[in-house]
This record gives sequence, C-alpha cells and structure tokens, in this order.
Amino acid sequence: MVSRATAGVALWPLALVVVLLPHFVLAADSIGAVAAKPCHSAAADGADAGCLSWRVMVEANNARGWRTVPAPCVGYVKSYMTRGQYIRDLSSVMDQVSAYVDTVQADADGLDAWILDIDDTCLSNLLYYEAKQFGAYDPSAFKMWASKGACPGIPAVLELYATLQAKGFKVFLLSGRDEETLATCTSENLESEGFLGYERLIMRSPDYRGQSSSLFKSAMRKRLVEEEGYRIRGNVGDQWSDLQGDYVGERVFKIPNPMYYVP
Ligand SMILES: [Mg+2]
Repeated sequence: MVSRATAGVALWPLALVVVLLPHFVLAADSIGAVAAKPCHSAAADGADAGCLSWRVMVEANNARGWRTVPAPCVGYVKSYMTRGQYIRDLSSVMDQVSAYVDTVQADADGLDAWILDIDDTCLSNLLYYEAKQFGAYDPSAFKMWASKGACPGIPAVLELYATLQAKGFKVFLLSGRDEETLATCTSENLESEGFLGYERLIMRSPDYRGQSSSLFKSAMRKRLVEEEGYRIRGNVGDQWSDLQGDYVGERVFKIPNPMYYVP
C-alpha cells in the first residue's frame, strides 16, 4: 500500500525534485547525516589556504626571520615543491628574466655583468630539505650535504646561464657558502651540472664569517662595481638577501623558495 505522503512525492514534477534535492542534501549534510564527502577535506583545504597565505607572505618578504616551515605547512610545502607548482612558478619567473634579457645588450668592453646565487638558484637543495622534513636550518648537516657535490642543477636557470653567456655577459656566481671548506666541492658540483665558464665564483671568505648574507653580498657587489667597473645588469636569487642591500643591479628576480629563510 502506498501512503498518501509517498504518493504525493511520487507525483512531484521531476524538475522540482531536481531543484530541491540539493537543498535536502545540504540540510542533511549540515546536521551530519550525510557523510559522503570526507570530513577531512574541508579542514585540509583550510590548512592549504592558510599555508598559501604564509607562502605568499614569504615570497613577498613580509614574513622575515622565520626559522622553519610552520609545522602545519610542512605537507603543503612538500606538495608545492614536488608536485609541479614550484616548477611552474619558477618557469614564470624565468620567462620574466628572459623578457628582460632580450632588452639588454652586453657592451664590447666586457663589463656588463649578471649575478646569480647558487643554492636553490643554480643548484637545488630540495632533496636535502625534503629528507629533513623541511625542518630548521642545521649548519653541520647542510655542510655535509653540500660537501657531496651532488646538488642537482636547476634546468631553467642553466638555460638562462647559457643565454647570458651567449650574449656576452660576464656571469658571477655569488654564494654565502663557506669558501675555505666548500669551494672545491661547489665548483665541482657546478661543473658537473653544466655551469661552465663563469667569470668568477665568489664565496664567503673567513673575513665575512658571521655576517648576514645581505651584508656579505653587498660588499662583494660593491667591489665588482666600484673597484672593477662592472655594471650589474641583472641579479637572480632565491632569497631577498640576495637582492637587497647595495649595488643590487638594474633588475632583480626572486626565485621561489618556501623552504628556508636566509637573512
Ligand atoms: Mg640561495
């Protein structure tokens, strides 16, 4: 036997059912009666949104002096770095660099220079930081990693490097790595990854130990410009400390890096 209420529903026009059904589902969902959608996804979406905000703050240099990726964002940063978005963002930056390179020429005097940072600009430390779960900076562990000379080159930056050389720019590789202990493995690593024929590899000498990267790199650029007469036409790095201070160059380009902060 069909009840009166059931019979009534059966007589509803199909279109009305289609319009109202989502409301019933939403109402049921709101009281927890429908669990078809995994309850963790909304929370995960919220966490990702918060971590996206954090990453934007980092890239815009609004968040400074942070010592480690916030614990709730470790998974987000890993996903960002390894599942394609980092490569897309890097590629977008390099498109901008290329567009600028097209507008500048190297003079015959050989004094038009570019500055490229090394760590996470020319060479990637993603494998190291991934193994460390994007934890806090650990100087001795990082030195062990760098000593292996096994950092993969970053292809998009190698492409830029080749373009700059072909156009006659002098490329200076400027790194805060310790010169005394890491010069040989760094130059070998660069060579094995295809960074050949640079004008000079400038690393942190004992005189600059303990100084911020920003101060050290400013001093090195000042020397190139004031003492050697170079014109810094462009400067590429993954840290704002590569790109701020004195004699930064005519254009600076920030490569994404939500893994760590160097003052
Ligand atoms: Mg770097």
